[in-house]
Amino acid sequence: MDHFDHHDGRLWCEQVPLDELAAEVGTPAFVYSASTMRDHVSRLREAFEGLDPLICYAVKANSNLAVLRLLRKAGCGFDIVSGGELKRIQRIGADASRVVFSGVGKSVREMTAGLQAGVLMFNVESEAELEILAEVAAHVGQTAGVAIRVNPDVDPKTHRYITTGKKENKFGVDLERGEALARRAIELPGIELRGIQCHIGSQITDVAPYGVAIERTAALARRLQPDAPDLAWLNMGGGYGIYYRDADAPDLADYATAVRPALEGLGLRLIMEPGRVIVGNAGVMLTKVVLGKTSGAKRFVIVDAGMNDLIRPSLYEGYHRIWPVRGDAPPALGTEADAAPVDIVGPVCESGDFLAVDRPLPAVERGDVLGVMSVGAYAFTMSSNYNDRPRAPEVLVDGDQYAVVRERESHDDLVRLERPDAKLRSLGASAGEQESHT
Ligand SMILES: *Cc1c(COP(=O)(O)O)cnc(C)c1O
Repeated sequence: MDHFDHHDGRLWCEQVPLDELAAEVGTPAFVYSASTMRDHVSRLREAFEGLDPLICYAVKANSNLAVLRLLRKAGCGFDIVSGGELKRIQRIGADASRVVFSGVGKSVREMTAGLQAGVLMFNVESEAELEILAEVAAHVGQTAGVAIRVNPDVDPKTHRYITTGKKENKFGVDLERGEALARRAIELPGIELRGIQCHIGSQITDVAPYGVAIERTAALARRLQPDAPDLAWLNMGGGYGIYYRDADAPDLADYATAVRPALEGLGLRLIMEPGRVIVGNAGVMLTKVVLGKTSGAKRFVIVDAGMNDLIRPSLYEGYHRIWPVRGDAPPALGTEADAAPVDIVGPVCESGDFLAVDRPLPAVERGDVLGVMSVGAYAFTMSSNYNDRPRAPEVLVDGDQYAVVRERESHDDLVRLERPDAKLRSLGASAGEQESHT
């Protein structure tokens, strides 16, 4: 479900016509629908009715401050993976007691910041991390709430780059070690075992692996319960699939149905960490046709957005529907009879710079604006300045109004930190302290 609709000869985001918006803010540009995001939060709540989950939105999917503020107002807590994301949610006044801190490589600085902020818990992914966290907690003089991230060894059948719940992935610890790690957490001073967590991957469209993963995770929680007075949460992670093509995602209620039996009578509250499912279908990228060209039998449409703006097609064969913003609505997938297949590519100097390959597209001309759909998640947050391309602006639409919530970068923004005239000096003779990025 989303609030993008083709009618009256053009594509609309809520009640804003996207051809006119493109003329006003320029291209490329990301446009988000506020109503779609709010709807997705309500739908998640409805689907998991009775389980009363704490919804911790995964900030890395889309970390724009306006988006975070909107989701806080919609009642979300947050799942963060870095000190930088912590600073972002602090800026929008997030309640730290509704925040979980994930990540395989948290630095001491990040742990300290999380403790001082008072996050609900750290998702701990290794033995070494737990010991370091205990030391940091002692140093800071605070108790660290933790959940152990276990790896239930299920195959979520998604792209190998976004599979995280198999034994060979770098995330979490296997179930046997998970139990030992949890028992160590119960004993360690300064540490409180508050939860067990698993997150098996992303863009998962088969609900069965969730059922198995939560069953195994819940069984571990049951074994620990008699010895774990503070164990109050079971965290099922995120990863719910969305529709990139037609209707390739299950109903949210199906995920709930898959995990309900394992949670029955467990006496633990549910946490979930959805990212993509809240924001993915809530975004479109507007891009302008620069020119068309033919090479052998191949026809190319070159547009002004590239892999630096949207890396999903290049990085993990991500599919995004693409269609002109003006003109008729796209026909049903697979029935684009007179639309000749083209490669839609960006201007970046890489053969891997494409948005779509062999894709049916009606005839387009220089200057036409295309809408690249379902780019609300893992799009802007993964964008870069490769080829010295300023990052695109982000625009939030709500009803018949819009706001530019992140401006287009300028050339000055890109060179702001460069010091071509910096004086060479010897090691140790430095004037200022070097700060680590974390
Ligand atoms: C990325 C991530 C999520 C969110 O995944 P989605 O597929 O966007 O729902 C949730 N939890 C953890 C630990 C993550 O790393």
